[in-house]
Amino acid sequence: MNVIIFGPPGAGKGTQSKFIVKKFNLFQLSTGEFLREEIKKKSELGLKTASIVNSGSLVSDEIVSTLIEKIILKDEYKNRIIFDGYPRNIPQAKNLEILLKKYDQKIDLVLKLSVTLETIKKRISGRSICSLCGKIYNDYFNPPPKDTDCCSSKFLQKRGDDTLEVATKRFQTYEIATEPLLDFYKKLNLLKEVNGERPIDQIYKEISEIMSLIEGWLCMITPYKYDFKNLNPVNYGPNSRN
Ligand code: AMP
Repeated sequence: MNVIIFGPPGAGKGTQSKFIVKKFNLFQLSTGEFLREEIKKKSELGLKTASIVNSGSLVSDEIVSTLIEKIILKDEYKNRIIFDGYPRNIPQAKNLEILLKKYDQKIDLVLKLSVTLETIKKRISGRSICSLCGKIYNDYFNPPPKDTDCCSSKFLQKRGDDTLEVATKRFQTYEIATEPLLDFYKKLNLLKEVNGERPIDQIYKEISEIMSLIEGWLCMITPYKYDFKNLNPVNYGPNSRN
């Protein structure tokens, strides 16, 4: 099952993706996480994209396209990718269709997490990530535990683009470039909208139910393509161990 998870910055795409990969044995392809990792490593790509990512704009379609093709072509990830943060605009969505077709795959589900700008502001300003295990916390909704070594304050980090100013810019970019994609997927009858304002476990429960239904259906009609029971779930990038 290939899934796209959509939503504005701070909607909870990364958090939900990390649960979903475990339950459904999928591979999380987060273009944002990949880029942040390159920036941290100060690689050539990281140096080229740092200022764009940190300002809240989108990096070029070519860069992300090259990155996602490297994953789509791999046999071990075939039909088990959750796209988190890709596609972000119509050209990227068209490119994804072409790439998936080239490797004999398709999108089976597009999940949209709906949240208001007010909630996003809180989520983004309160967000921190444990640099050891990759868990995502929020001071308002899901505070980090006080009594563990792993996620203690010395390991918690903020994303470079998690300021209110950049978040607002990222939200605008989302509205202008990414929201029009919803129509694209609605027409393909792939879109399911989920209320992302609720607590994490409630959102996860609803997503899980939707995905179980679709997985059951896919296994029934094409079992040779969707038998992943013996494979391991995988996340992409540094925050992949939880
Ligand atoms: P995210 O972690 O998905 O919020 O992405 C963080 C930042 O990475 C974005 O604000 C963009 O600068 C960049 N980025 C991530 N995915 C894409 C994409 N598909 N196309 C262009 N830029 C992206």
